[in-house]
Amino acid sequence: MEHVKCLIIGSGPAGYTAAIYASRANLHPVEYSGMQPGGQLTQTTEVENFPGYPQGVDGNQMMMDIREQAERFGADIRDGSITKVDFSSRPYKAWDENDNEIEADTVIIATGASAKYLGLDDERKYNGQGVSACATCDGFFYRKKTVAVVGGGDTACEDALYLSGLAKKVYLIVRKPFLRASQVMQERVKAAENIEILFEHNTLGLFGENGVEGAHLVKRKGEADEQLVDIQIDGFFLAIGHKPNTDIFKEWLDTDEVGYLKKIDGTPRTKLPGIFVAGDCADPVYRQAISAAGTGCQAAIEAERFLLEH
Ligand SMILES: Cc1cc2nc3c(=O)[nH]c(=O)nc-3n(C[C@H](O)[C@H](O)[C@H](O)COP(=O)(O)OP(=O)(O)OC[C@H]3O[C@@H](n4cnc5c(N)ncnc54)[C@H](O)[C@@H]3O)c2cc1C
Repeated sequence: MEHVKCLIIGSGPAGYTAAIYASRANLHPVEYSGMQPGGQLTQTTEVENFPGYPQGVDGNQMMMDIREQAERFGADIRDGSITKVDFSSRPYKAWDENDNEIEADTVIIATGASAKYLGLDDERKYNGQGVSACATCDGFFYRKKTVAVVGGGDTACEDALYLSGLAKKVYLIVRKPFLRASQVMQERVKAAENIEILFEHNTLGLFGENGVEGAHLVKRKGEADEQLVDIQIDGFFLAIGHKPNTDIFKEWLDTDEVGYLKKIDGTPRTKLPGIFVAGDCADPVYRQAISAAGTGCQAAIEAERFLLEH
C-alpha cells in the first residue's frame, strides 16, 4: 500500500491544473488519468477560448502542454482509473483498476462529466465535423450559418438562444409536443425570430459530404401521420444533458439529482475534510476548460492549506 499527500483523480484541465499547483507546493501529487487522458478537450480539434493561445490551439496539444507543465514540477501522472474509494476515515483510501491501494491525506476529484448523445452512428461519424455537444465552445464556428439544437430542457433553450445570436437560423428539435424548460426560457425561445421549434421530431441521422449538411428527421414517429423531414443544417448541437463521472463517490459525498458533486459555499470543499472537487464533475453551469482549470487551482490551494493545518 502506498501513502500519498495528495491524490488527484482525473486528468482534464481541472486535474492537470491541480497537479501543477500541488506539485509546485511540494505535495508530490499522484494523479490518475482515467479512461480519457487529457479529458474532454482531446475530442476537439480547435480550442479558441482558452487564454494564452491567440491563434487557438488543438485540444490534444493543449492538454499535452498542461500535462508537461505538471510533470516538470514532479507530478506523478499515471495511466488507469480509480475504481473504488473508501472515504469513511482519514487517511482516505482508493483503489486503482489493478487493485493497488493508495492512502491519501487529501483527495482532489476532477473526473469531469460526459455529454449525452442520442446514440446515432452519424454522431460519431461527424464528430468535430458539425456535431458538437458544447454550444458555448463551438457556436462561434457557425456564425451566419444554420444549426440545429436537440433537446427540450433549459440547457437546450439556453443553447438555442446563445446560437441564435451567432447563427442565421436555429432549429430546436424537440421530441415531445412541449418544452420542458422553465416558462421564462420557453418564452425567450419562442420570441426569438430566428429559432424554429420542431416539436414531436426525432433525429434519424445526419448527411453531408465533408461534414454535416443536413439531418434526417421523423415527425410524430409511430403515429398514423408519421412524416419524414429533412432539414439543411451546418451544425448539429446536442443539449440533452451531461452525466458527471461521480458514481464511485456517491456513497460518501453529496450530489445533486443529476450526480454533480456538491461543494460547500462555492469553495472546492466537500462535506469531508481534505476532499476537494474541481471542474465539470461539480459544475452543472459553466463546464468550460478555463473554469475547470480555475477550480483545479483552488482545490490544490485548499489541499495545501489543509495539510498545513493538519
Ligand atoms: C467536443 C468538446 C469540445 C469542447 N470545446 C471546448 C472549448 O473550445 N473551450 C472550452 O473551454 N471548453 C470546451 N469543452 C468543454 C471542456 O472540455 C470541459 O469543460 C473541460 O474539459 C472540463 O474539464 P475537467 O477537468 O473538469 O474534466 P474532463 O475534461 O471531463 O476530464 C475528466 C478526466 O477525469 C478522468 N476520469 C474520469 N473518471 C475517472 C476515474 N474513475 N479515475 C481516474 N480518472 C477518471 C477522465 O479520464 C478525464 O481525464 C469542450 C468539450 C467537448 C466535449
